[in-house]
Amino acid sequence: MDVIKEGVLCECGKVHPESRVGFSIKKGAISDLLQLMPDLGCKKAFVVADENTFAAAGEKVCRLFDENAVGYTKYVFPSGKLEPNEKSVGSVIMHFDDKCDIVVGVGSGVINDICKIVSRVTERKYIIVATAPSMDGYASASSSVIRAGLKITLDSKCPDYIIGDLDILCNAPKKMLAAGLGDMLAKYVSICEWRISNLINGEYYCEKVASLVRDAVKKCVADPQGLMNREEKAVEAVFYGLVMGGISMYYAGASRPASGVEHYFSHVWDMRAEEFGTPCELHGIQCAIGTLMAVSLYEKIKKITPNREKAKKFVEAFSYDEWKKVLSDYLGKAADAMIALEKKEGKYDVIKHSARLETIIENWDKILDIINEELPKASEIKNLLDVIGCPTRASEIGIDEKDNAKAFASTKDIRDKYVLSRLAWDLGVIDEIM
Ligand SMILES: [Zn+2]
Ligand SMILES: [Zn+2]
Repeated sequence: MDVIKEGVLCECGKVHPESRVGFSIKKGAISDLLQLMPDLGCKKAFVVADENTFAAAGEKVCRLFDENAVGYTKYVFPSGKLEPNEKSVGSVIMHFDDKCDIVVGVGSGVINDICKIVSRVTERKYIIVATAPSMDGYASASSSVIRAGLKITLDSKCPDYIIGDLDILCNAPKKMLAAGLGDMLAKYVSICEWRISNLINGEYYCEKVASLVRDAVKKCVADPQGLMNREEKAVEAVFYGLVMGGISMYYAGASRPASGVEHYFSHVWDMRAEEFGTPCELHGIQCAIGTLMAVSLYEKIKKITPNREKAKKFVEAFSYDEWKKVLSDYLGKAADAMIALEKKEGKYDVIKHSARLETIIENWDKILDIINEELPKASEIKNLLDVIGCPTRASEIGIDEKDNAKAFASTKDIRDKYVLSRLAWDLGVIDEIM
């Protein structure tokens, strides 16, 4: 983290806050728990795991506590699919031992999302013992959850400490190793889109944060075969990258450095799975597929010459009511929040569009430069995913590719964020490039 000077004015004009999350990534890192507990002023741990993560690392944690006379209470979720919803958060709360002054989560995405909420609600310190380098939510202060049947992001608590024990991480299921790299590949697109939005909308951008993420991605893609062979150096690079992904968002005060349109493909598939029971996959696997789709679409965008008349005609013909109907049919209840967001934001407003379009046309060469500088070739991404045995197409995870165009169109409505699908809409080509 030498690149970023915390607490002093950065050249981006922002004072990047001090990242308080500690982490250690090494063999045997789990033993650090013994020192961390007193360092954090804690005596008794509330250990949370599911059956799989308990076998992978929870047992080790409990043995370590037993052997060193550290008090703890444990709660292990019963077998079955664990979702970060009211039921699972409620279960932990109802089993919570009030004498515990720290929550120790043992797991990856779902366990961490649940424990981040529990530690916030109970106002306890929180350590996550990671069981897989599978997603970049370790170092974030929010939880991706399903509330009242809707997938949303809730403010929660950033862990006080992240334990990345390579003895555990290297033994994670191969699919989770692939997913972690997938979540890192997403960063090519997110940095590219961050710069494009900075250019078109004057959105805040920090080159130092971007370069921190770029460096981490570079290390992650250096040895995909090594990752699949569970080699420590390769696993360490991916886990470090994922932790950095979370910290970079904290520095930027936004999700821009780590998530763009490729994540929105994943969100759309998750929303549909929740609403209609359609198939879905691990976050990082979906992000990998989304990244390949996004990079391929950027290759098509590069071949376009912006046409003012065409774009204006397209926007004039755009029907707000039709848009609402298509979105609601495709995403169900989840569309309501997106429609409300648009009401506030007004991105489909003809006058606002016209202003953006002029900026786009004026800066088209610069936009092409950004795409060329930030994105690898789609064929390179495809080769890399083949090496790690990761699906490369939506159909491989059970998603009907006839819906790809709808998924892409919906990505522009998920958040108030300028991503590829918005650029394609602004150019009037969104219906033809998918
Ligand atoms: Zn900065
Ligand atoms: Zn992600």
